[in-house]
Amino acid sequence: MARALITGVTGQDGAYLAALLIEKGYEVYGLLHRHGGSEAVQDRLRRLNCTGSVRMVDGNLIDLSSLIRLLQKVQPDEIYNLAAQSFVRMSWDQPLLTTQVTAIGTANMLEAVRIASPTARYFQASSSEMFGRAETQAQNEDTLFHPRSPYASAKVFAHCLVQNYRDAFGLFGCNGIMFNHDSPLRGIEFVLRKITDGAARISLGLASELPMGNLDARRDFGHARDYVRAMWLMLQQDKADDYVVATGRAASIRDLCRIAFAHVKLDWEAFVKVDAAFLRPADVDVTVGDATRARTRLGWVPQTSLEDMIAEMVEADLKRWRANA
Ligand code: GDP
Repeated sequence: MARALITGVTGQDGAYLAALLIEKGYEVYGLLHRHGGSEAVQDRLRRLNCTGSVRMVDGNLIDLSSLIRLLQKVQPDEIYNLAAQSFVRMSWDQPLLTTQVTAIGTANMLEAVRIASPTARYFQASSSEMFGRAETQAQNEDTLFHPRSPYASAKVFAHCLVQNYRDAFGLFGCNGIMFNHDSPLRGIEFVLRKITDGAARISLGLASELPMGNLDARRDFGHARDYVRAMWLMLQQDKADDYVVATGRAASIRDLCRIAFAHVKLDWEAFVKVDAAFLRPADVDVTVGDATRARTRLGWVPQTSLEDMIAEMVEADLKRWRANA
């Protein structure tokens, strides 16, 4: 039985990936960074019916020795490093914490792999935020990085380090340059989930407006369920490489509002208000990915349209608010 270790297992992607690997017959271990309330922390795994099937192991990305001991014990065949301080806006308020977890945490993980598990296959969750102010219309694996936030800068460091370990030590390490991806399990602090939750609350009469930031930003949005499949496929290849994971379609925040509110038969313009509190010191105007390499080499194609994903998310939020009422 193949063994996989997932860091960030309690997050959106961790939960979808755990569900996928369990379905494929893997023994799945999840790195649990305990900070009280571990019950609530496992809520996403519970929602995908896989809490009992993931073996939780204690450890922390910022504690190298905990990672070495963990790898010695688990001896995973595959490692998926999904853990990060991943909220861009927060990275402006906590740049050092973001660097510790997202950049140094990856360095720790790579060192632990090099020392304790050098033949394991390693996946690194890189980010489209690394492109920042991109100079090409669609970004692929060769596009230059212009990170525009502490989060993006930390991710660039982690990305390059995976490439260094691949070149220098023969690590089977893959970077998946993940464009925005969402689902009903997405954290409420991210833009699309905030919109679907807002549309649900407003349609149920639980709120009267939705304060938002930059409506002109454009992003390439896919479904997390599709994106974790790409992660797994990368580690099944003969050779390790980096891959963009994206749909190739950009939508503005305004478009998201329109689609989500239309699902509950409301006109978004009557409810969405721009509030300066949600603007960022610097923002990325547009990212759109060119996933040709993933399509041709991995045979990966996203299966969920933006409209279907938004409908699924609004429905899940409506259900939750109705149950809370
Ligand atoms: P990111 O692409 O990783 O930064 O993902 P987010 O979901 O946090 O933000 C996506 C885009 O939506 C950014 O350009 C934000 O500036 C924009 N945005 C506009 N209003 C909001 C808001 O109220 N919350 C968040 N999180 N983002 C917003």
